[in-house]
Amino acid sequence: MTHSRPASPSGSLPDPQSEPLLSLLRDLKQLVELESPSSDALAVCAVQDVVEGWARAMHASTHSLPGGTRQLLFGAAAEPSTGPSASERPILVLAHADTVWPHGTLAEMPLRVENDRVYGPGSYDMKGGIAGLFAALRALDGQYPAGGIEVLLTPDEEIGSTQSRPVIEAAARRARAVLVVEPPVADSHALKSGRKGVGHFVVGLSGVAAHAGNKPHEGASAITEAAHQLLAVQALADAAAGTTVSVGFISGGGAVNVIPAQARFEVDVRVASLAEGERIDTAMQSLRPHDRRVSLNVTGGLNRPPFERGPETLALFGQARKLAADLGFDLSEEVVGGGSDGNFTAALVPTLDGLGAPGDGAHAAHEHIRLDRWPDHVRLLTALLREI
Ligand SMILES: [Zn+2]
Repeated sequence: MTHSRPASPSGSLPDPQSEPLLSLLRDLKQLVELESPSSDALAVCAVQDVVEGWARAMHASTHSLPGGTRQLLFGAAAEPSTGPSASERPILVLAHADTVWPHGTLAEMPLRVENDRVYGPGSYDMKGGIAGLFAALRALDGQYPAGGIEVLLTPDEEIGSTQSRPVIEAAARRARAVLVVEPPVADSHALKSGRKGVGHFVVGLSGVAAHAGNKPHEGASAITEAAHQLLAVQALADAAAGTTVSVGFISGGGAVNVIPAQARFEVDVRVASLAEGERIDTAMQSLRPHDRRVSLNVTGGLNRPPFERGPETLALFGQARKLAADLGFDLSEEVVGGGSDGNFTAALVPTLDGLGAPGDGAHAAHEHIRLDRWPDHVRLLTALLREI
């Protein structure tokens, strides 16, 4: 395994002779120090502006698309599509500029280097992926593949990509392959060859209020009904099929001496196949109350289809593994439970995910990138952009 020089001790920057790493860290710092929670469109825009500036400095053509996505076109992708042949289609790279972290997080979790790790909000998921992508694009030195490279930098991945989904799907339809610069799997640093589909359901319950002491029989408890329903919902999980179901939020009632008329719970669902998604959707819509005086209102559904581990993705992974071996390291692939924008494209075009910065702690306080492994993953992405 080839590695860059190890980083220097806690608190200081790594060996200044490791120029590629320093340049990655400079770009990462610029992005992480602009906090960009999904809910603040202007803050997300500020990150997109910086990245668009990097692209323009490389003579890419850049465009603002409906829904707040930035499109950055390198090489032939800057020209209108010239023909139907597969090799003339661009490689599409997906990245997102938003993070799960609210404003003020940076004061609690400042960007910092400790040993061979760099910590900071949004570093691993996925500002490191953006910094690594630009290092790879610059390393191509203007020699873009036939068809060019199209980068979409979206604003809303962490909140379900409602705004950006149409432009992602349209770009995927004209691409020959999709590379997603979400981080690789923690610890194994494996690429992501499949992701579960993600569903979110809300079950609202309306019963009848009554005095809990004097006339409880006149009431119909929304909370008791919710208890029955949520056990039925949890029972829809099927470990063998890869389906998980979790009621992650519940509320209801008011004063303790009143039979509660209102309750609500929310359900997180992950499925490995579309068939399982349809089974859960049908079951959720078919829920019926035990107590007929309570009405149920089920909303929501699958907001990301499963990214099924298929032969086209495995062929792409085969190329990646060979390129990694040439670079001197082993690469594996895994199917993961979390969704990404790759879930939208995998059904349309060969998609490989996890090509961002290696590390751990997505959405957690210990979020970090592994500096000892990062340059290898940037070299791998560079080789993929050159070879596929
Ligand atoms: Zn992400």
